[in-house]
Amino acid sequence: MADKKNGFLMIVSAPSGTGKTTLCRLLLKSEPEITFSVSYTTRSQRAGEIDGKDYHFISNEEFKRMDENGDFLETEAIFNHFYGTSGKDINKSLAKGKNILLDVDTKGAKNLKHTCPEGVFVFILPPSLGTLKRRLAKRGSEDEKNIRLRMEKACEEIHENHWYDYVIVNDIINDSLEALKSIYIAEKHRRKRQTEVIEKIIRSKRGGI
Ligand code: ADP
Ligand code: 5GP
Repeated sequence: MADKKNGFLMIVSAPSGTGKTTLCRLLLKSEPEITFSVSYTTRSQRAGEIDGKDYHFISNEEFKRMDENGDFLETEAIFNHFYGTSGKDINKSLAKGKNILLDVDTKGAKNLKHTCPEGVFVFILPPSLGTLKRRLAKRGSEDEKNIRLRMEKACEEIHENHWYDYVIVNDIINDSLEALKSIYIAEKHRRKRQTEVIEKIIRSKRGGI
């Protein structure tokens, strides 16, 4: 995928219940220039979620149609539902030079690592598995069976940490937000992502001296 106009992808993964959605929302509030990649999913909407903002909630038929149409950059079946990232939406934002935040599971992130190796990969971990279980229970969105499913997947996902660029242990939320913000700001200032502005400064020499 072309890295047009120096925009970049920041891909965030975490075992479900770690606090990734909470952190991503706080980051987007703090850095409003970031575009959130709104995924498509066949799962049902949770209380407080907004269609088109948190996810595009679509039917199985619509998901299949989009998949066959080649609309997705990556898709995964997770907890008996489908999730997909729209390649069209991402390309549109990159073409505008936007930095994009993606919230995907470890399998989806691994696929993106192949198609978008220039991306910044961040893995968020809970302080312990006991804490993760308590957070899942506290969120109140899952029944016992689904909490068990998510805990089983968490135990597998934790072993994927080694190929991510950064790891944040989400203990104190404000510390985690500061860490995520620092990663974003540092990555934004990489020289390779500033070529456009550097060229502009160099070009300005002609009129300035
Ligand atoms: P995820 O998106 O990773 O599945 P959520 O953002 O939905 O997780 O968070 C799961 C639950 O944990 C929510 O009730 C949220 O308020 C809570 N939570 C998130 N981060 C923290 C934290 N650092 N300390 C305590 N509770 C947290
Ligand atoms: P939830 O249903 O709790 O919102 O999300 C479940 C899992 O799906 C999380 O790990 C989340 O990161 C992942 N997810 C959300 N959107 C996508 C997507 O477009 N692609 C992939 N691969 N995973 C996604």
